[in-house]
Amino acid sequence: MNNNFSNVSDEQRDFLYKLDLQEIVDKYGSPLYLYDERTLRKRCEEMRGLIKYPQFSVNYSIKANSNIELLKIVKEEGINADAMSPGEIYVLLKAGFRPDQIFYIGNNVSAEEMQYAIDHGVLVSVDSISQLETYGKIHKGGKVAVRFNAGIGAGHHEKVVTAGSKTKFGIDNTLVEEVKNIADKYALKIVGVNQHIGSLFLDGRAYLEGVKGLLAIASKFPELEFIDLGGGFGIPYKGHMGEGKLDLLGMSIKLDAILKEWMKQYGRNAQIKIEPGRYIVAECGTLLGTVHSVKTNYNTKYIGTDIGFNVLMRPVMYDSYHEIKVFRNGKELDNSKGSKATVVGNICETGDILARDRELPDIEEGDIIAVLDAGAYGYSMSSNYNMRLRPAEAIICKDGSHKLIRKRDTLEALLSGF
Ligand SMILES: *Cc1c(COP(=O)(O)O)cnc(C)c1O
Repeated sequence: MNNNFSNVSDEQRDFLYKLDLQEIVDKYGSPLYLYDERTLRKRCEEMRGLIKYPQFSVNYSIKANSNIELLKIVKEEGINADAMSPGEIYVLLKAGFRPDQIFYIGNNVSAEEMQYAIDHGVLVSVDSISQLETYGKIHKGGKVAVRFNAGIGAGHHEKVVTAGSKTKFGIDNTLVEEVKNIADKYALKIVGVNQHIGSLFLDGRAYLEGVKGLLAIASKFPELEFIDLGGGFGIPYKGHMGEGKLDLLGMSIKLDAILKEWMKQYGRNAQIKIEPGRYIVAECGTLLGTVHSVKTNYNTKYIGTDIGFNVLMRPVMYDSYHEIKVFRNGKELDNSKGSKATVVGNICETGDILARDRELPDIEEGDIIAVLDAGAYGYSMSSNYNMRLRPAEAIICKDGSHKLIRKRDTLEALLSGF
């Protein structure tokens, strides 16, 4: 029925073999985030095709990766954006998004931050009664969206489950009347309801349950312009170990059926939005680094690289797994011909571990490490911890050429606030 969901399997890895990675690293520096434009566009297309219902739009949640050049591509693909902070609104406007293409989903934000969004014509979502009051006080008679927590959560780690009874997000669905009362008090027009149940699910069932939960809440607001079903669409980080892709086609069919049924009962058509972050950018990004030392400490072999957790935080923050490939003189080494090793970075912390006890080839100093699926929550979570420089970012364009899209930090920039 929908060929957009053809198994896109390994196409995003092709470029690793077409390019001389050593040359790339020599040119742009190591470590380096390297993105593939074709993969990025493909993922945008897949998300655009998720729902057939015509009033459907996709908001890319830019906290996953806010490089302005990538944002411009996403925009070209006809995708709107979610912002989580005034900084993200600022970057989105600079990338060319119109205010009505941006949705600010605040969580515990100040009145000044809300005001920033209002001043720039960006719609705000509030996620507590107290934030709704704050908003009402500064924007009487304005439009607002409300983030609910229908009690259903999902995610790969407890730190990324963002709905259900154990998270700080959203308004409890028992508080609908109170939401309405406060909206009336300030003559606010509730134009949308939104939720986000969690990040990185590979089984769509919880999402679909969450959608039903949100729609039940939406029914209590007769004048909605939109319903935002949230993000969290997962990608198979362990695809090479047999982990399956998210069944988008299956989800698509079920979502359309649920929505059709609900619209009939609602009596009018509301716009439907989703807000994927990871799905759009994860697989288009590879992090390249260099091995600087190999040693064995009490029977554990350590591969010392320049990829500290200031560069890629996910493994340390969420015990995340990223597939690793090793290249020497432009050729991939065979992971099955080697031994177990633990890959670490250059940060002065014992927890600075990129991959633990991995079956890897016999790595030598100077080898290049490619960390796959690093496009989401990679650069965007990077820092200057240990006064390390955040890496450069480069992109492989559609035509196979490549270019720098963000310079590596400079030493001077470390003192830019003084
Ligand atoms: C982070 C976030 C998203 C995107 O999550 P992914 O798992 O990257 O798809 C969507 N909506 C909200 C409110 C978020 O905070």
